Amino acid sequence: MSEIIANDKEYVAGTYARFPVEIVKGKGSEVFDADGKRYIDMGSGIGVTAFGISDDIWARAVTEQLSAVQHMSNLYYTSPCAQLAKLLCEKTGLKKVFFSNSGAEANECAIKVARKYAAEHKSCQHYVIVTLKNSFHGRTLTTLAATGQEHYHELFQPLTPGFVHVESGNISELEEAVKNYKVAGMLIECVQGEGGVLPLDGEYIKAAYNICKKEDIVFMVDEVQTGNGRSGMLYAYMNYGITPDVVTTAKGLGGGLPIGACIMGEKVQNVLGFGDHGSTYGGNPVCCAGAVSVINRIDDDFLAQVRRKSQYVFSTFKGTTGVESVSGIGLMVGILPSKASASEVVKKCIERGVLCLTAKNKVRLLPALNISDELLCEAVGIIKGVISELS
Ligand SMILES: *Cc1c(COP(=O)(O)O)cnc(C)c1O
Repeated sequence: MSEIIANDKEYVAGTYARFPVEIVKGKGSEVFDADGKRYIDMGSGIGVTAFGISDDIWARAVTEQLSAVQHMSNLYYTSPCAQLAKLLCEKTGLKKVFFSNSGAEANECAIKVARKYAAEHKSCQHYVIVTLKNSFHGRTLTTLAATGQEHYHELFQPLTPGFVHVESGNISELEEAVKNYKVAGMLIECVQGEGGVLPLDGEYIKAAYNICKKEDIVFMVDEVQTGNGRSGMLYAYMNYGITPDVVTTAKGLGGGLPIGACIMGEKVQNVLGFGDHGSTYGGNPVCCAGAVSVINRIDDDFLAQVRRKSQYVFSTFKGTTGVESVSGIGLMVGILPSKASASEVVKKCIERGVLCLTAKNKVRLLPALNISDELLCEAVGIIKGVISELS
């Protein structure tokens, strides 16, 4: 254990502040460290393991594909890729999918789609992408440029040009931006995840959508974190009665394997043509087989269960000792402690056997969507106890 930590510290790039815990195995929402200590997993690998650790149905789908064919180049057809694209289109009403390997890459694809659409329908000068302040869209140089948080930008200049950040909730600022810049697209998260689990105002989402529609601006929703059942709907935009031109997703989609998807609606369905984009691993059959099994299980009954668990979590934390506020949607929950720092709470929770996350000054919970009522109740009780002790 200490040797592993030492090796990791010496040889792995120091981009992550790791806790001194080595996870060796798990099942569902329980994981175990090298000393055999058990934890309830309330972070699910940052919203990735949608059905928990080593879920039987998911593992079967993946291993069956693994022993049939693990990879093929995109020069040939494979069934899981076509199946997954069909499922995603049928369930969203959108038309075509480009598969990548991560959320950032799904957003890169969306940005290329918006720019090419604008270049063909307006002019090559119409390349500006409007995003929101406090947003998070990824770590590549272009998705960093899209990310509306200065502290990620500072030492990586120059970033990809052509991004403008506006204040969420401020319609007139958006109208000004649309007037002052030659705008190709707008990209938003319905609930800002890394930004502090902050839902946008529903009226703002609808107004922004309508402005984009009127101005023929490609309206894109980043569902990398909010997607695939996390919000209590299959995709969070479905809570607001809109149909975006582009939806990007990743994290929970693969259930634990790397996959991203850029799902394109009618207006932009044929923007990407032969040679416009590509990815060696994109549409990998093992990742797609896992994703097919994830998406197939997120039906109306399952989503109703997600919403029921969500209500339980929100109502339990609201107004309890030491809790300033609770924000989020579905099983994407941000708890603002009134006195303690979020990282103090997370540290104490690890000692007590619960893994949770932070987002800015909040304790962030992203449990597996199928977490049992018993484990959810146990974890929530421990977190509540820690927050009240630290207040
Ligand atoms: C995590 C996240 C990303 C980046 O996804 P990666 O798979 O890490 O590239 C992009 N957008 C949102 C909203 C995210 O939460």
